[in-house]
Amino acid sequence: MRALVVVDVQNDFCPGGALATERGDMVAEGIADLIRDPAAGYGAIVATQDWHIDPGEHFSGSPDFVDSWPIHCVVGTGGAELHPAIKDEAFDEIFRKGEYSAAYSGFEGHAAGDETVTMTTWLRFRHVTDVDVVGIATDHCVKATVLDALREGFGVRVLPELCSPVTVDTGEQALREMESAGARVGR
Ligand SMILES: [Zn+2]
Repeated sequence: MRALVVVDVQNDFCPGGALATERGDMVAEGIADLIRDPAAGYGAIVATQDWHIDPGEHFSGSPDFVDSWPIHCVVGTGGAELHPAIKDEAFDEIFRKGEYSAAYSGFEGHAAGDETVTMTTWLRFRHVTDVDVVGIATDHCVKATVLDALREGFGVRVLPELCSPVTVDTGEQALREMESAGARVGR
């Protein structure tokens, strides 16, 4: 069974947000179309959210945009909410990560409804063997989620047209890294 994993399509990562990526809105709309496409055939559709309370050095007043970032996706703010194009979709589960430290991969998170359930546990329980990964940002949280999915033994495809990078160059580089690690890039 194949699942769709929608990574961090949150307002702060889209145009107008604290840490906006240029393609954010376009990617959110495209993902909404995919979710509503009955022919897509996913056995489960889940989302992840960067979900910060006090993530320490992940936030900085003088961020280097590699290990430290402007304040973003703070719990209780609009920036942490899913993009309007997908926020009313009935995800089978949402996994949240990063409350008290940086967390790039969705596999570091836990189910919104149950802190003891990881994404690996959840997917395996539902007999998911393969995942399609989409979302933001290609060069950070998408990449980390894809690499963890491969480590956990899932078959992984990343759909680059439905991913938004921080920069075009680092996005392309990340796709090459995911491919060399064993992910299929594109359908
Ligand atoms: Zn973050």
